[in-house]
Amino acid sequence: AEADAGVLDVAVIGGGQAGLAAGYFLRRTALRFAILDEGAAPGGAWRQGWESLTLFSPAAWSSLPGWAMPPAAEGGNPSRDDVLAYLAAYEARYALPVRRPVRVGALRRVAEGLRLEGAGVTARAVISATGTWSHPFIPDIPGRDSFRGVQMHSAQYRRPQDFAGQHVLVVGGGNSGAQILAELSRHATVTWVTERPPVFLPDDVDGRVLFERATARWQAQLEGRPPPEALGGLGNIVAVPAVREARTRGVFAHSLRPFARLEAEAAIWADGKRIPADAIIWCTGFRPALGHLAPLGLQDPEGHVAVGPEGQALAEPRLWLLGYGDWTGMASATLAGVTRAARGVVQGVVRALA
Ligand code: FAD
Repeated sequence: AEADAGVLDVAVIGGGQAGLAAGYFLRRTALRFAILDEGAAPGGAWRQGWESLTLFSPAAWSSLPGWAMPPAAEGGNPSRDDVLAYLAAYEARYALPVRRPVRVGALRRVAEGLRLEGAGVTARAVISATGTWSHPFIPDIPGRDSFRGVQMHSAQYRRPQDFAGQHVLVVGGGNSGAQILAELSRHATVTWVTERPPVFLPDDVDGRVLFERATARWQAQLEGRPPPEALGGLGNIVAVPAVREARTRGVFAHSLRPFARLEAEAAIWADGKRIPADAIIWCTGFRPALGHLAPLGLQDPEGHVAVGPEGQALAEPRLWLLGYGDWTGMASATLAGVTRAARGVVQGVVRALA
């Protein structure tokens, strides 16, 4: 329930899918909570993303607790706009107390709990659900600042037409790299750069199988068994329709290992190879957006926080982390996986505040 500006029982930082899933379970308790979100509108990171971005699973496999995502407007897997419409409707359907736009600057320890600077809120317990989108990762390649072409991270990429007629380096062998390469290759010439030879999942393996695999790993972990070998073979690129179409054009036929440095107009490899480029799109992933936790001194060199099985910070029992990926709960950074993690976190919070 919306609380006054005094001390809340629970503050959720982040109103993306993870924050909303936590809100769904919190509203079923007697706890007074609010969700503080920097975004100016619902949807979290789904408000960004490129125009053609689609989910790698069907709608039914991309649902938050309580209400199945409606089928995609155009058939096939949901588009970014379908996800945005769903998350906005979800927030309204459950009348979740989201305050936006509110940016939480830092968390500080106070007598009543944790103070959220910038939000004018103090809470007895805090659930951090700030995602990774606002913390894109780009490797520190020598000469990056001297490259005169366009450089952007996949988080800023919007459409392939912006690169028509150029030569573009696409760096990164995950789903973002493959999907951006697929559409860019119809407008520009491209060189694909990946750390290791990219591995595609078999065509019939989509997000559902990734979720089943994560569940099997999670089950094994709970029962203390070794993780089962990944059914459908290892790999991380889902062959969504756009990727399959590009494959028929030979777009993924080969990729180069990382270049050693950049000059004004070219990338240079250790063996001397030099490839001139007009632009670089870094599809090199993300890191958890945890800057607001800095004053608590909880993070390791990778920026991770040691958490228990329900996402509670081991060194700060009033803080829970949700939705950052497997280290905060198997598949917790996906629509399908965040429900289980959110249920666990809220159960932990209810017990801690009892
Ligand atoms: P976010 O959606 O990033 O939400 C975090 C919210 O917290 C944002 O609104 C942000 O503004 C806010 N915030 C951040 N810092 C602060 C602060 N200090 N104070 C206040 N608010 C703050 N998952 C799937 O299930 N299926 C897919 O097909 C899929 N495809 C993906 C494709 C791409 C390119 C990427 C990057 C991810 C994909 N994911 C997919 C993964 C995942 O679903 C998304 O990353 C999702 O957005 C994660 O949700 P979240 O709520 O954890 O974080």
